[in-house]
Amino acid sequence: MLDKISTAHGAVAKNIEFIRKKISAATLAYKKQIGMVRPVTLVAVSKRQPDDRIDGALTAGQRVFGENRVQEAKGRWAHRREFYADLKLHLIGPLQTNKVSDAVALFDVIEVVDRPKLARALSLEMTRQNRQLECYIQVNTGEEKQKSGIAPDHADDFISYCRDEIKLKIIGLMCIPPVEEEASMHFALLKTIAERNSIVTLSMGMSDDFEEAITFGANSVRIGSAIFGQREA
Ligand SMILES: *Cc1c(COP(=O)(O)O)cnc(C)c1O
Repeated sequence: MLDKISTAHGAVAKNIEFIRKKISAATLAYKKQIGMVRPVTLVAVSKRQPDDRIDGALTAGQRVFGENRVQEAKGRWAHRREFYADLKLHLIGPLQTNKVSDAVALFDVIEVVDRPKLARALSLEMTRQNRQLECYIQVNTGEEKQKSGIAPDHADDFISYCRDEIKLKIIGLMCIPPVEEEASMHFALLKTIAERNSIVTLSMGMSDDFEEAITFGANSVRIGSAIFGQREA
């Protein structure tokens, strides 16, 4: 499916257009199945990508970006923010509590709330900075030891803790399925947890499986290499 995608610098705009078409088609297919759907947000994952590709995406009108490291994101986005007031930055990689202050100052959406200690630190810092960011809870649907995310069995309790007790603005769930497993069952599990907790945003699907994710209800997809090409080491 991605064979037409070139990694040349000038190709970023074309890749975005190509991905947007694929997103529209998948959204339409899902709509036929269930009646009505929410629009799908394209989060362009810009981690470890060179500046000219980032600027190519901005020139093409892309405004929502995902980053997995706070310091790296700061270097890439702090100055660009001044020129693009409508930029929306999503943190999609694990967050340590000692980086919470920088993360709250820079990002607009935190997709990786995954444990009580982090949730409390975020809540305190958002109050301190008077910035109530949108938050997603990351669910470790594959229950992988090396992966972050709350275990599916603890998700309901953790969601209500974050939402009701410490007043985080929880509007989404996020998952990264295990590489060696069928992604669809993980997408379906995340959707089930979201529905029973009345959560509307589902961040799931990456370059290789975003169309499938959309047909399982994803309305936010995180796409890096299919837009920007291979990342730097
Ligand atoms: C890097 C990353 C992506 C993007 O992966 P691609 O396969 O390049 O699209 C998506 N989600 C998370 C959490 C990531 O770390």
